[in-house]
Order: sequence, then structure tokens, then C-alpha cells
Amino acid sequence: MAYSKEAERQNKVLGDLLSGKEPEKRIFVGYQGEKSTEKQKDVESHLTKIMKEVRMPWFCPKCERVMKKRLDNKMWRLFQHCFECQVEEEHEMRVNGTFEAYEKTKVIQNKISALSNNIDELKEWLKEEKTEYVEPVNVDTGFVHVEKFEKTEEMLQEGKDAVKMLENKKKEFEKLLEDVKNGNK
Ligand SMILES: [Zn+2]
Repeated sequence: MAYSKEAERQNKVLGDLLSGKEPEKRIFVGYQGEKSTEKQKDVESHLTKIMKEVRMPWFCPKCERVMKKRLDNKMWRLFQHCFECQVEEEHEMRVNGTFEAYEKTKVIQNKISALSNNIDELKEWLKEEKTEYVEPVNVDTGFVHVEKFEKTEEMLQEGKDAVKMLENKKKEFEKLLEDVKNGNK
């Protein structure tokens, strides 16, 4: 069914949004099959799963060490790996002589602007009363089947949480940018 493909795409887009990456241009859509509660449950579990992934996992995805320190949490939110990995990475960059403040500033600025875009897109999505699901029916004629779904309370809440989380993330990057510019990091 086209649905699972669409769900997968949404999953990826929301994942990108939350990790601060530039998502595919089409913003994610949600479903609430009036006819199908199964569809709805499916989407809700997707969202829940993604939200869980945003929170710090137990193990660093890079080195597989257990992440338990407060600093790990901070590094996870900023760089998606543990504190130890960050120390190693920065050390390596210093050794290679590539640890230029300029580079770092550029990276952080890109992240901040990507986050801003994501926040705006999510807010737009939250504002729309209904969300639509477009399914191509005939590739030759371009005929599509469009279904509109109400957003569920849970989807809206997840969306709002995501905005909050992204805004906090953005603030941390802004703080980091200041630190880098002031030469504290
Ligand atoms: Zn690590």
C-alpha cells in the first residue's frame, strides 16, 4: 500500500526536522483515518518512536559507551554523540590543525538557520487545521487522490513538543556560537 511508503517518508522528514537537518522539501503530513483507526495508531506510534529517538539514548551511537553523565546529555543534544566522543573529536581536529574557529562558527550558523527553518515549518504545520495525504493514482495523467485528515490531539501535542525541543536546541547553538566567537571554546 502507498501508505507505508508515505509513513516512512514522514518518519524520515520528522527525524530530519528533529535532528536539525534540512528535510525533504515536502513537509510531513499526518493521518487520522476516519475509517481506519489502525492507520492512526500506526502514525501515532511512528511519532512516539521518533520523539523517543530525540531524547538521549542509553548508548552513544558512535562508540557504544553508556551515556549517563550530564555532559553526555549536553553533547548528545548538540552533536548526537557522547562527551568522550566530543573530546576525542576536538582533540583530533586540533592535532590536524583543522580546529579553526571560523569552521566551527560556520557549522553552528548553518545548524541554527536549519533549525529556524524547521521550527517555522513545524509551526505552519501546526496551524493547518487538517493535514492532507496525497496519493498518486495515475502517473501519466498526474491524477492524484487527496485525503484530508483531522490532526489528533496527540499528534498536535507531539508537534508542539517538537517545536519546544527544537527551540531549546536552537538556543543552545546560539549560546555555543557566542562562546566560540568570544573564544571560550
Ligand atoms: Zn561516544
